[in-house]
Amino acid sequence: MTLSPFGLITDVDGTISEIAPSHEEARVSPICRESLATLTEQLELVAAISGRPALEARQMIGIEGMVYIGNHGLERWVKGAVELVEGVEEYRGKVAAALSELKNLFALEGIALENKGIAFSIHYRQCPHRELARRYILEKISTSTLAKEFRIMEGRMVVELRPPLGVNKGDAVLALVERYRLRGGIYLGDDITDVDAFGAMHRQTPSFKGLALGVIDEETTWQVKEEADFTLNGVGDVERFLGWLVEIVPALRR
Ligand SMILES: [Mg+2]
Repeated sequence: MTLSPFGLITDVDGTISEIAPSHEEARVSPICRESLATLTEQLELVAAISGRPALEARQMIGIEGMVYIGNHGLERWVKGAVELVEGVEEYRGKVAAALSELKNLFALEGIALENKGIAFSIHYRQCPHRELARRYILEKISTSTLAKEFRIMEGRMVVELRPPLGVNKGDAVLALVERYRLRGGIYLGDDITDVDAFGAMHRQTPSFKGLALGVIDEETTWQVKEEADFTLNGVGDVERFLGWLVEIVPALRR
C-alpha cells in the first residue's frame, strides 16, 4: 500500500521545544525548526498540535507552510486567521471571569496563571513543593463555581481548564487525516494529552497507517510509554529523528 499523502504531526512543548522553567521561556529547537521547514516542502502535511493557543504555536515555530492547531484541538491557525471549534467563543468571557476569581485564591509561591483566551492553565513547575502545589490548586478549583464550567485536565506540572466540548488532540489528528486524505502519518508527543493523538494514529482503518512516537524523560507518565509505538529520549532525539526523516523521505519518494 502507498503511505502517500503522508503527514507529520507534532506536539510543541517537551517535544520540539525543551521544557523551560516557565512557559514564556520555552523556545523551539532551531535544529527541529530547520528539519520541519524542509519536511513542509517534502510532505503533504506538517502540523503542530499544542496546548498553547494556535497563534502562539505559530509564533514559536514560525514556519509558513505548517498547519497550527491550538488549545488541544479547539482552534486552528489557517492562513493568518484563527478558526475556532463551534461553541468555543462563549468561553472567552468565562475564562476572564474565572481567572479574576482564581487569581486571588492562588497566593502560593511559584504558581503562574496563563490566559489562553478560550482556556487557561495553572502552572506549578516553579513551586518549591510541586505535589503540594498540585493538590492545593485542585482543591481551590473544586471550590470555585466559575471553574466548574470547565473541564479540568492535567499535564506536565500544569492544571488546565478547558471548555468541556469533548475535543482533544486525538479528534484534531483525525480531522487532519480526513482533511488531507492521509494514508500514512507520524505523531510525536510527550504528555498525557498526546495519548489521545496516539490513539488516533492507531485507529484501525484499511486506508491509514500511523505511528505514535513518545518523547520521554524522567517526568513522563506511564501512559505515554505504554501507548507509544517507540520512544525517543527527549528533544535531542527528536532533532536526530527529524533530521533522519529529512534524509529518508526523498529516497522513499523516488
Ligand atoms: Mg508537550
